Amino acid sequence: MKIIDQVAAVRAAVAGSPRVGLVPTMGALHEGHLSLIRAARRSCDLVVVWLFVNPTQFNDAADLDAYPRDQERDAALAADAGADILFAPGVETVYPAGFASTVSVAGLSEILEGAHRPGHFAGVTTVVAKMLNMLRPQVAFFGAKDAQQVALIRRMVTDLNIDTEIEVLPIVRESDGLALSSRNVLLTAQDRQRATALFRGLSAARQRVVDGERDAAVLTGVVAAALAQANITADYVSVVDPATFEPIKTVTEPALIALAARVGSTRLIDNIEVTP
Ligand code: AMP
Repeated sequence: MKIIDQVAAVRAAVAGSPRVGLVPTMGALHEGHLSLIRAARRSCDLVVVWLFVNPTQFNDAADLDAYPRDQERDAALAADAGADILFAPGVETVYPAGFASTVSVAGLSEILEGAHRPGHFAGVTTVVAKMLNMLRPQVAFFGAKDAQQVALIRRMVTDLNIDTEIEVLPIVRESDGLALSSRNVLLTAQDRQRATALFRGLSAARQRVVDGERDAAVLTGVVAAALAQANITADYVSVVDPATFEPIKTVTEPALIALAARVGSTRLIDNIEVTP
């Protein structure tokens, strides 16, 4: 695996490959990221892992400071999962002096995660637009864990005629249901235990849908109750349309229950699909 930090070099390295697969990450790689790299390996000629802790998508300086970083470990894991190139540009390469452009998706970027993290999604869509332009991959791989991010990126790629397929892979979880996240290492042992309430609540709500419940307010109440038992207050719990993230009152079509919650000082997100 090659490690590259310059745009011209990575462009030269991908030139001529018929099917380039891009896996965008902020590093601190775990099985969730590795599932994306392995999927890229199965379907692409050349697999590029993008590693960049994007400062513009952090709306909280303390969160950016605390974000775990270990490029050597990430390089070993990415190579092992089948990556051909680890592209790890510096901040000055992604945002050179004079950088002044923003790509933002109206509406979708302002609700739920967007409402709680002002500016976050503009940071995400701008950096993703940049990476898709730099590398022009045939396909880019994202995880369903960041479901609103996926909806935004699909919208952006359609709106801006970006010629990259977007592939979405399922959420990888720990055996007790906690969704893998680079932030999980920041949880204390006690908070790690409490954090299992997120998936417990989402699973209980999904079971209620299986049993015939259709009222979104009842479903979010089920999730909130599971969180309350662990002394966790959510930033939001919402039943939404998976494509638009518009809130749904009655579940008549496949929907997503999405949540964000602070467990100790760490903010976690999760979601589950429900089908009536
Ligand atoms: P991040 O490094 O957190 O920005 O995530 C990079 C990519 O990995 C995003 O597309 C995430 O949705 C995806 N990802 C993160 N955690 C998981 C997980 N537990 N399961 C599947 N994909 C994940």
